Amino acid sequence: MAESDDKKNELTESGRDGKSGKQKETNEKRCSLCGRPESEAGTLISMPNGMHICADCMEKGLSDMRKHFDIDSLLDGTQGMQFLNLGDLMHPESRAEKQEEEQPLPEFEMKSVPAPHVIKRQLDQYVVGQEHAKKVLSVAVYNHYKRIIEEERIAKEKKAESGKEAKQDAPRLVEIEKSNVLLLGPTGSGKTYLVQTLAKLLDVPLAITDATSLTEAGYIGDDIESVVSKLLAAAGNNVAKAEHGIIFVDEIDKIARKKNANQRDVSGEAVQQGMLKLLEGAEVEVPVGATSKNAMVPMKLVNTKNILFIVGGAFSGLEDIIRERLNRHSSIGFQADLKDKYDDDKYILRKVTTEDLRKFGMIPEFLGRLPIVCPLDPLDEDMFMEILSKPRNAILRQYEALLAMDEVKLTFEDGALRAIAKQALKKDTGARALRSIIESFMLDIMYEIPKDDNIGEVVITEDYVEHRGAPKILMRSGG
Ligand code: ADP
Repeated sequence: MAESDDKKNELTESGRDGKSGKQKETNEKRCSLCGRPESEAGTLISMPNGMHICADCMEKGLSDMRKHFDIDSLLDGTQGMQFLNLGDLMHPESRAEKQEEEQPLPEFEMKSVPAPHVIKRQLDQYVVGQEHAKKVLSVAVYNHYKRIIEEERIAKEKKAESGKEAKQDAPRLVEIEKSNVLLLGPTGSGKTYLVQTLAKLLDVPLAITDATSLTEAGYIGDDIESVVSKLLAAAGNNVAKAEHGIIFVDEIDKIARKKNANQRDVSGEAVQQGMLKLLEGAEVEVPVGATSKNAMVPMKLVNTKNILFIVGGAFSGLEDIIRERLNRHSSIGFQADLKDKYDDDKYILRKVTTEDLRKFGMIPEFLGRLPIVCPLDPLDEDMFMEILSKPRNAILRQYEALLAMDEVKLTFEDGALRAIAKQALKKDTGARALRSIIESFMLDIMYEIPKDDNIGEVVITEDYVEHRGAPKILMRSGG
């Protein structure tokens, strides 16, 4: 019986890859759980204790574990198990090799990087206002990818040279500094949205994290390198792709050094310190498909040298620091009478300096690795109105499209738009307030309209938005 089984293996194996089954029979590994040989069970996963396990048994083991524990959230609440590539669970020595083999470096070419004005034009289709920020980011991104191309050119030439006898050194342009960016601006002014739109336009992976969730390794919370792990997941576990991606760390102002703090500040300054090497460029070993390291999770090496870091924060209180500095200067000499001139300047953030940020509590080394500081403007009523209807995926356009599927035309009177904008402005959460306001009054429309096939058009009026009246309902002609 054993013989006939082996025959069967031999047949399937030689049918599959043409190798002799006999040779496999002698030194072939077997799954320590089900006992099947590798030729039958597929590539076996080598465990540290000398065991070998087939993918089926591993999957079965994990699904048994799932019945008892919520292992998906243990590994990572957001990514779940889909990123745990069973084929990657192998001896650590072979990991680096595999990475090299399977992941050819996608090459950037100068012609595939859009020029700054093209990037800006595309951003304009989504992001309202923020002209300065859009310009700064377009240039920063353009330069960032130029720098990568130059780095890769040099690396390639070095590799080619190393085989031959030493020729003259590959010509190197000036060393281009990494263009990590610091975005400053009020909540809901579009910081995250800008970065998301940019990553989508450039088709590069993006990981977004919150600085408040990051801690030094060893403290409770995600450790700093977990963000690289997120990026790797966003890149479909392709290391080379992740290495050209963007990492956005929001709420960076929350890790400012606390003023007058006598004790060591674990969450703030230490996290800034911890981020330094990532910002600059370092090789980090990150778990695949999880944000925490443990024995079950495979690891990959990711170099952050070419990852663009964008950090953002509202920096509330920074305006006062800037104002104080400006007032101090203007109270000297003949400008003394203009002492209050900055009090109502709503664009005061545009005057920020590194010195102000240091005073706020950002450490100099950290700021030194963010050469581009880019303030965003607070949004006003007109901008809110524009955000509602102009961008390619504007909220109102989305509702229009939904109702169009019921063959109902949806229109908004200008007064209604202004009323929504006014309500949003009061909430002080920037453009974020718009969606919740609209959702609250659109719920009834979306519920009632499909009930009556005769309705052809709905007009949202100012009175309806202000809860003083009903929307205008127009029936289909002839209906
Ligand atoms: P934050 O500055 O706090 O990161 P977000 O970028 O998350 O703000 O903005 C919240 C939402 O508001 C975005 O998802 C987007 O829909 C909208 N929004 C904010 N600013 C703009 C803008 N300038 N143009 C268009 N939409 C915007």
